[in-house]
Amino acid sequence: MTSSGIYIHIPFCKSLCPYCDFYKIKYNEELAEKYIEAVVDATASLSVLYNSSSFDTVYFGGGTPSSIDGDLIVRVLDALRLNFDISPSSEITVECNPSSALEDFIPKVAVAGVNRVSLGLQSAVDLERKSLGRLAGPSRVTTALDICHLSGIDNISLDLILGVPGQTLSSLEESLDYCISSGVPHVSAYMLKLEEGTVFYKRQDTLDLPPEDTVCSMYDLTCNTLSSAGLKQYEISNFARPGFESRHNLKYWNDETYLGIGPGAHSFMNGKRFYYPSDVVGFMRGDMQCIPDGEGGALLERVMLGLRLSSGISFLDKDTLEEISSDKTLAPFINISNGNLSLTHEGFLVSNVVISKIIEKIKL
Ligand code: SF4
Repeated sequence: MTSSGIYIHIPFCKSLCPYCDFYKIKYNEELAEKYIEAVVDATASLSVLYNSSSFDTVYFGGGTPSSIDGDLIVRVLDALRLNFDISPSSEITVECNPSSALEDFIPKVAVAGVNRVSLGLQSAVDLERKSLGRLAGPSRVTTALDICHLSGIDNISLDLILGVPGQTLSSLEESLDYCISSGVPHVSAYMLKLEEGTVFYKRQDTLDLPPEDTVCSMYDLTCNTLSSAGLKQYEISNFARPGFESRHNLKYWNDETYLGIGPGAHSFMNGKRFYYPSDVVGFMRGDMQCIPDGEGGALLERVMLGLRLSSGISFLDKDTLEEISSDKTLAPFINISNGNLSLTHEGFLVSNVVISKIIEKIKL
């Protein structure tokens, strides 16, 4: 039986970035303590249902997990180990903001078993980081990397954003050079999206955003530069040295099982999908809802997630693959070989449209 993953949502942030539409709330020490108690209680309740499952990844995401005291992360890890079968060889990741007090935070969580850190670099260019609302300069990211290494954590991922206001191909090169010369084994690179309700969405006419075709060239540059440096693309937005792919995130893309704890966190366990309400109050009340899988919903979800991977999917039947390959408009965007379907580099650039077209051809 394959092991599952556990996701813990830490919804607090010390400052709010103008492009972000994740659920988050301003950090408050007293609320953070109470919230962690609710997370600990939730692990105890869920263990009744899942005490026979084994888990081999834990991921603290946010919000900003490093905005709270490291002792609170340790408290959650203790509760997880008490209530679940957590493999000693688990990948345990914490997302960190370089602006946080990492000198105190990282050593504490490393001693408790955290062995992977995902750091929000976003850009190595100071002006671009400032435009994204990131307070710390790039030198602070370098300090954060040093703290991780000194604490024994070398499995580090840096996040980059493509299409930042003021960004050019040559300034992106600076950021890519930073990632490569830092020696990290994993990079995630996401294109900036203007999400409704964000400050950037409201101010979009005043932002110096690079044109769409430049952003496409930025994606090309990112894929080529990182792969030449040995960071192989294994998902639309993720690049890693062999063996350093995110084991936790691969569970989502491979449609494997996971338990999510925190506001808005989703779970997929024993064939059932369920989630907590997306606000702290609802979560702390313990409300949980089941999402019914519509007819064929599970298959479509597997297709949508699996096509994000460079390796693609191998579970569609011969007739469906023939139907897909007979659509000549899809030809530049897909590869079909030996029963496997994957997207090409061009397909990744327009993945939403290509995946929707593929899904239309699947008979449920
Ligand atoms: S730190 Fe992360 S979660 Fe918090 S506001 Fe910024 S982007 Fe959003």
